[in-house]
Amino acid sequence: MSARAGIIVTGTEVLTGRIADRNGPWLAEELRTAGVDVAHVLIVGDRREDLRSALLFQVASGVDLVITSGGLGPTADDLTAEVVGEVQGRPSELDPDLERRIGRIVDALLARRGWRVDPAATAASTRKQALVPRGAAVLEPVGTAPGLVVPAGGGRSGPPVVVLPGPPAELQGMWPAALADPAVERALAGRAELHQRTLRLWNTPESELAATLRDLGPTLGGLEITTCLRGGELEVVTRYSPAAQPAYDDLVVAMQAAYPGALFSADGRTVDDIVAEALLARHLTIATAESCTAGLLAGRLTERAGSSEWVLGGQVVYSNAAKRELAGVPQELLEQVGAVSAEVAAALAKGARARLRADLGVGITGIAGPGGGSPGKPVGLVHLCVAGPARQLAREVVLPGTRADIRTRSVTLAMHMLRELLDGIPVQHDHGRARRDSNPQPPDP
Ligand code: ATP
Ligand code: MG
Repeated sequence: MSARAGIIVTGTEVLTGRIADRNGPWLAEELRTAGVDVAHVLIVGDRREDLRSALLFQVASGVDLVITSGGLGPTADDLTAEVVGEVQGRPSELDPDLERRIGRIVDALLARRGWRVDPAATAASTRKQALVPRGAAVLEPVGTAPGLVVPAGGGRSGPPVVVLPGPPAELQGMWPAALADPAVERALAGRAELHQRTLRLWNTPESELAATLRDLGPTLGGLEITTCLRGGELEVVTRYSPAAQPAYDDLVVAMQAAYPGALFSADGRTVDDIVAEALLARHLTIATAESCTAGLLAGRLTERAGSSEWVLGGQVVYSNAAKRELAGVPQELLEQVGAVSAEVAAALAKGARARLRADLGVGITGIAGPGGGSPGKPVGLVHLCVAGPARQLAREVVLPGTRADIRTRSVTLAMHMLRELLDGIPVQHDHGRARRDSNPQPPDP
């Protein structure tokens, strides 16, 4: 059996949902891809007794390693190091050298921000963060708080506890050092190398996929397959040991045969990656005119660094006047067929393309609700159009869910329409062509 780990996320703000937990999922994924099985993720508030119970539970469950996040700062509710030390039978003591290192970091931080604080208070905070359970290894601070690896001591047996800071960037920055710690390496010695691959399908019901996987059943030995429906896309995540590679290759071939149009990614790329790479490879630019999504598509298209290379701009055309004046939708058209119509979606796509001088234009118009629907045009009705130089694609859908669901699903649908349109445009291998100079772009913001 592969090595197993337990995770404890601390913080009353996470327990109450004021902040969504980013550390538990991140650590679980890192551990899984490192071949470590995650047994449980517990979330506890900043309470000594609850943290102690969670630690005792994890230790008693027989895991090989426990990881905590949060509660390493200088304030009174930061008590992780102390409680872990108690549970592991290692009382805390001051590490004077660490105290000096933290002091230097804090001084530099205060100087950079120009803050003036009471030196005695700063010294007390620094001293608190330099209290280390006896015999624990220190992981150098990424922010101000050091992390710890605390092996079981005082005659106890049990897993080492890795203590990491709460801010996600600090936790992630410290993780490589935690994995390289000798006590952690020993604890995870039994881990088995696991591959993880993702297949992505569009427009496929989960029930259909379940039936396909049932039929393939006998050939899937050694594969751990999980499926998950996310924003209209179906993700099939498979984990397997290197010995099961032939079984995974067979699965991919069978899935490609069963879902020729729907399986859009077998190499881990998302639809966003595919659209961005397709635009770049074809030297094409894009512009949007969005009504019901009001810029969400433009936002999504510009999420990745370097997108100024292919995104020219986007119009938020919420009112009829904006549709007319910004995107050039004819007033008569708006009067004849209404703003939520296939004709207006097409006029928005063409208008964005023409007004921003882009190769591709996208138009979205719909009723996101919860009000504003009518029998002929219900809430969730969305018209989309993607117009290219030679061809255009149009869709009419009635999407379920809340206002937010309808808006985000419309954006995902637009991404898939772009993927489809781009797939039909051949890549020009004209390496001599320099960057478009008709549209000089500033460097990425
Ligand atoms: P600090 O020195 O900043 O107090 P810390 O190790 O004590 O560090 P916490 O006090 O637990 O960490 O958390 C500090 C902040 O980091 C939280 O207010 C929150 O913004 C963020 N944070 C902590 N834990 C999580 C988490 N699990 N997911 C997302 N953000 C988190
Ligand atoms: Mg804190």
